Amino acid sequence: MKVHEYQARQLLADAGVPVPLGTMVQSVEDANSAAKSLFDQGATLLVVKAQVHAGGRGKAGFVKLCRTQNEVNEAATYMLSNKMVSVQTGPEGLEVTKLLIADGVDIDKEYYLAITTDRSNGANAIIASSEGGVEIETVAHENPDAIKTVPICPLAGLETYQARQLAFELGFEGKQVGQATNIMMKMAQLVADTDASLAEINPLIVTPASEEHPHGQVLAIDAKFDFDDNALFRHPDLKKMFDPTEENEAELRASEFGLNFIALDGNIGCLVNGAGLAMGTMDIIKLHGGSPANFLDVGGAATLETVTEAFKIILSDEKVEGVLVNIFGGIMQCDVIAEAIVAAAKEVGFTVPLVVRLEGTNVDQARKILKAAQPELPTMQTATDLEDAAEKVATAVSTACA
Ligand code: GDP
Ligand code: MG
Repeated sequence: MKVHEYQARQLLADAGVPVPLGTMVQSVEDANSAAKSLFDQGATLLVVKAQVHAGGRGKAGFVKLCRTQNEVNEAATYMLSNKMVSVQTGPEGLEVTKLLIADGVDIDKEYYLAITTDRSNGANAIIASSEGGVEIETVAHENPDAIKTVPICPLAGLETYQARQLAFELGFEGKQVGQATNIMMKMAQLVADTDASLAEINPLIVTPASEEHPHGQVLAIDAKFDFDDNALFRHPDLKKMFDPTEENEAELRASEFGLNFIALDGNIGCLVNGAGLAMGTMDIIKLHGGSPANFLDVGGAATLETVTEAFKIILSDEKVEGVLVNIFGGIMQCDVIAEAIVAAAKEVGFTVPLVVRLEGTNVDQARKILKAAQPELPTMQTATDLEDAAEKVATAVSTACA
C-alpha cells in the first residue's frame, strides 16, 4: 500500500526526522488559507506540491516554489485543473485532487536516501547517494559508483556505526554527520516498526549555512513509503491512510469482492480460475492472434454473487470486444460459473462475443444451464477445449472489429 507524501512526512516527523511543516488541502480556497497562515507565521518561501502516487512531479511542473499569495493561488489553480503527466504516469496522466502546502527551504545540496529489501541478500538495505534530487534511476545507470548500499541486519537493525560511516562517505561535514546519522537511524526504525517495503527520502537536503545553523540543517523534503499489504492487519493506523482514489477502479472493485483483476492492453476479457490457468489462457489467446484486455481470476471460493460481479467488472472495461471464460472446475464448480453467466447476462447483457470453456466439477449441469439460456445469450459460443476456445474468441473479435 502506497501513501501520499503528506502522510509520509507526518510518519517521518512523528519518528523524529526533521521535515518542514505543511498542510494537505483539496481546494484552491483552502490552499490560499493554508498559505496565508504560513506567511503570517513568518514564512517567506512556500512550496505547493501535487499529492499523487507518482514521482517526477518536479519536472512535470507539479512542485512549485512560491513567494507570494498570488503565486500560491496560481500554482494551486493550475495543479487542481490539469492532469499531471510525468515519466511515471504514462501519457494519459493523473488527476490531482490533493495538494501539500509546505514551508519551502533554501537548498545547498540534495541527497538520496532509501531503505528497501535487497532480495539477493534476503534482508533490507539502506541505499544512499550524494547525487539526490534528480531521478535516481539515471544516476544508477550513468554513475553506479555514486550509489552506496549498506545491508541492514534483520536482528540487530541498522547500527549507528554503519549510519555514521555512510554519512561520512556521502560527504556530510561537521554537525551534518550527526544529523544525517540520526535521520538514517530513525528511518530504519520506522521501516521496521511499520513493515514498510520501501521508504525513500529524495531529496534529503542540507540548507545553506546560517547564523543559527553554521553547518546547515539536514532535512527531508520529499518522502515516499510503500507498506507490505500482508502486514497491514498489524497496523490499523496505517490502513486508515489508504486512498482509494489513487487505485485502478476495476482492480479496487475486484479486490473488494476477493477477486484478482489485472488490466492489460488488448481487447479480449478473460475470466479464469487460478493464476497459472490465467497465464496459460493468455498465452494461447496470443498464439491465436488475439490480445488479452485483462484477466480476472475468480479463485477457488467464489460464489454466484462474486462471479456475477466479476462479469460486470470485465464488461465495464471499454477495451473489451470479446470475453473468454476458461474454468477448470475443482473447488470452483462449473454450474456456479454457468449460473453467473446467465445472471450477468440478465443484469448487464453480453453485447460482445462470449466464448465459454468449462471442464471439471459439475460440468454436465453447467452445460445444461448454458444450453437452456442460449436464447438469452445470442453472442455465446461454447468450446470443446482451450485450443478451440482461443480460436473461437480470437476469430469472433477480429470478425466483429473488421
Ligand atoms: P518529485 O519530483 O516528485 O520527486 O518531487 P520533489 O518533492 O522531490 O521535488 C522535486 C525538486 O524540487 C527537488 O529535488 C528540489 O530540487 C525542488 N524542491 C522541492 N521542494 C523544495 C523547496 O522547499 N525548496 C527548494 N529550493 N526546492 C525544492
Ligand atoms: Mg522527490
